[in-house]
Amino acid sequence: MKVVIIGAGVAGLSIGWKLREGGADVLILERAQPARAATWAAAGMIAPTAETAHAHPDETPFARRSAALWPEFAAKIEEKSGRKIGYRRDGALMVARSEDEARQIASRSNRELLTADEARAREPLLGSAIAGALWDAEEAQVDSRALGAALTNVFVRAGGKLSVNEAAVRIEVGDGWLGATTPFTTHVADKVLVAAGAWSGRIEMDDNVLPPVRPVKGEVLALVPPQGALLPAQVVWGNGVYLVPREGRLLIGATMEEVGFDTRLTDAAENWLTDRAVSLMPSLANWTIDEHWAGLRPAAPDGLPVLGETSVKNLFVATGQFRNGILFAPAVAETVSRLILGLDAPEIRAFSPQRFGKAP
Ligand SMILES: Cc1cc2nc3c(=O)[nH]c(=O)nc-3n(C[C@H](O)[C@H](O)[C@H](O)COP(=O)(O)OP(=O)(O)OC[C@H]3O[C@@H](n4cnc5c(N)ncnc54)[C@H](O)[C@@H]3O)c2cc1C
Repeated sequence: MKVVIIGAGVAGLSIGWKLREGGADVLILERAQPARAATWAAAGMIAPTAETAHAHPDETPFARRSAALWPEFAAKIEEKSGRKIGYRRDGALMVARSEDEARQIASRSNRELLTADEARAREPLLGSAIAGALWDAEEAQVDSRALGAALTNVFVRAGGKLSVNEAAVRIEVGDGWLGATTPFTTHVADKVLVAAGAWSGRIEMDDNVLPPVRPVKGEVLALVPPQGALLPAQVVWGNGVYLVPREGRLLIGATMEEVGFDTRLTDAAENWLTDRAVSLMPSLANWTIDEHWAGLRPAAPDGLPVLGETSVKNLFVATGQFRNGILFAPAVAETVSRLILGLDAPEIRAFSPQRFGKAP
């Protein structure tokens, strides 16, 4: 079976790898360089408790299943690529700034909340304006840039073909075949998977069945501490931001903006992120901004992932992971590769691309 995948982000690369393991002949078309879009921009949190507070009932079990698959997924990627991807299950502290917020946070878990003093004992950088915190030891993180590079390596070592700087501009639907047309040629395949992140709805088709995903911009800062200052030992959420210790830096994320495909960096975002972080951890005012970047999350109108076969036979989609594409990666890879290979896959009807009908 020949499969063409459009997009080499975490989704396309990990599904492509699983398809190779299942014996398919796989070509990934990447319009730029692999894993340099949302996957590169991500903070890399594997945060089913912190991120699925208001999730759809079908999303929470999917997130939990994926988080449980992560340790083995990470170990296999490291073993097959010979590279470290920084998977760490150090837990996360979800900080409340008022009694009201403390009650909301407490409802995410059956664990007891820490008092403000207990939270500061776990994370001494926290300031005085906190009411308590939820501690979840199961939350994890991965270095998403290292992950993208390692997955690219694993896919190619598994015998996958990757064509970079080759954008799919159109999908052709033939009689028993599909084609991905690029400026250079039409790649004919038995099955095509669109895993083009926030751009997944923008590929031309005669009868457009691709989902109406849109980009949601996120800006992130990385701070370096002054000499002698320690990084937090775990991910910390609070005051509308998250703080992720990574390789000697502290990532502060992330804004959420609906500004189309604009990824320009703004002073407003920089100020918003630093103000929020400093009011949570006052000593961060003395840290230095080392990097500032932006990325586009792929979001469906209902906020749910879009995974599975479209109403065009053999045309599949994996997008709409929104804020959780790193968390979801192992479950997406397993589920979508099995669907493409025609094997039994876990039930994900709520995520079907067919829920949107055809685009006008
Ligand atoms: C600031 C920020 C922070 C985030 N933090 C987290 C986090 O902590 N945890 C988490 O789980 N998730 C996080 N996310 C979300 C996560 O990054 C995404 O959900 C995930 O990376 C989506 O992966 P993807 O492979 O679908 O898309 P992408 O990584 O965007 O990859 C899509 C690829 O398709 C290519 N492409 C597009 N159009 C075409 C075309 N026509 N032809 C060929 N190639 C094409 C692009 O060049 C790109 O390489 C964050 C996102 C952002 C922006």
